[in-house]
Amino acid sequence: MEKITSLAKRRGFVYQSSEIYGGQNGAWDYGPLGVELKNRIAGAWWKEMTRLHDNIVGLDAAILMHPRTWEASGHVENFTDPLVDCKKCKSRFRADQIPQENLAAKKCPDCGGELTDTRKFNLMFKTHIGPAEDTASIIYLRPETAQGIYVNYKNIIQSNRMKIPFGIAQIGKAFRNEIVTKNFIFRTCEFEQMEMQYFVKPGTDEEWFAEWRKQRWAYYEKLGIKMDHLRWHQHGPDELAHYAKDAYDIEYLFPMGWRELEGVHNRTDYDLGRHTQFSGKDLQYIDQDNNNERYIPFIIETSAGLTRNLLMIFCDAYDEELVTPDKNSGSSEGTSSGTASSSDDWRTVLRFHPDLAPVTVAILPLMKKDGLAELAQDIRAELKEDYATDYDQSGAIGRRYRRQDEAGTPFCVTVDYQSKEDGTVTLRFRDSMEQVRVPKAELSARIRQEIKAYKRIK
Ligand code: ATP
Repeated sequence: MEKITSLAKRRGFVYQSSEIYGGQNGAWDYGPLGVELKNRIAGAWWKEMTRLHDNIVGLDAAILMHPRTWEASGHVENFTDPLVDCKKCKSRFRADQIPQENLAAKKCPDCGGELTDTRKFNLMFKTHIGPAEDTASIIYLRPETAQGIYVNYKNIIQSNRMKIPFGIAQIGKAFRNEIVTKNFIFRTCEFEQMEMQYFVKPGTDEEWFAEWRKQRWAYYEKLGIKMDHLRWHQHGPDELAHYAKDAYDIEYLFPMGWRELEGVHNRTDYDLGRHTQFSGKDLQYIDQDNNNERYIPFIIETSAGLTRNLLMIFCDAYDEELVTPDKNSGSSEGTSSGTASSSDDWRTVLRFHPDLAPVTVAILPLMKKDGLAELAQDIRAELKEDYATDYDQSGAIGRRYRRQDEAGTPFCVTVDYQSKEDGTVTLRFRDSMEQVRVPKAELSARIRQEIKAYKRIK
């Protein structure tokens, strides 16, 4: 994880929040490459969950919600973690994440000191709205995006004439006062979620639950994720949330081990039932195609962390590769000097799917002089309309390729003297490092074709 964190910082993917003040725990800033990557992951999810489904629509609800929402949802009462402190070294732990024998003996797993009793700690950030800081002004930062969907479910049925089954998708910030925030951006206090809530007729819920598990699994396959690094984990009776009938997590093999990436939950009619009770509004669905039959829909939820997905995609794409002289033969790659190759030339490469890579094409003139830079700039101006581009004219060409490999750029276009003569350029592929000559007029279409046909080779 150290290598990932340091590459992420060095190349402007993720920085520590407020670093000049010593950093803010649980918060991270996404730099120029990071924000692009995050937007693309969000875009891929949004396309998958809305555009590819005729019956799923989007929503962007406010972070601040009426405080009754969180009473109805059960968060005020139940959204707690068990907390213990060490009296000696002052370390703080989640009681469910330390060895049971330490907990029973009240012995700190770090220093052996005495642990406090376990106490419940609510994870919601609480603040005040308006000038008076009294109990009437308490407001929470939402700990999940789902509730914004539930409270709008009737609005969406009415405004968009939705018929069950249908879904509502949302991407947005969520906040949790997490006790332990290690492992880079894995668990943070401020993060983003991508959630889709699917409203179904009671009795059809198990069928839809199975269907959504299938679809979410296929989604990661489509993104070219290493499928042997993903697995299902079904919640046992002791893990199942009080509202859930069944729940599965998709887990990913992160550098620190298998951890939850996304949850698929059968939430029953709990949420809409509770909001009916707390708001006094009738949230039943009226089935006009079926003699106005009324019922509270069941909800199948797919809930993924966007920032956690980014970490997963980063870890999954990360590779270090020995660049053998053979691989470089005939090309101008090789050692950082850009001349001869040596067998101990390593490259770090991020093998992002081209749909997710922050930069799709980098344009590199072999030399700044003799009009090559101008030609390269012209090519960039054309490609800009279709792709996220970068331009780099400084340093040896081999070193420039390595810089793009580290940023995960799938295609480099090199403009050389031959380009001036015959209008062709070199298209270089990140994964194989192979190069082909392409007429510059065909470049955009060729890249489009390569993206469509992309298959991860390693
Ligand atoms: P955990 O048990 O790890 O605290 P959870 O089961 O409470 O997580 P959910 O409430 O199901 O998580 O949230 C859905 C998704 O949101 C998770 O699968 C994860 O990807 C993401 N997520 C939850 N909490 C955080 C966090 N603190 N930081 C980053 N992502 C998070």
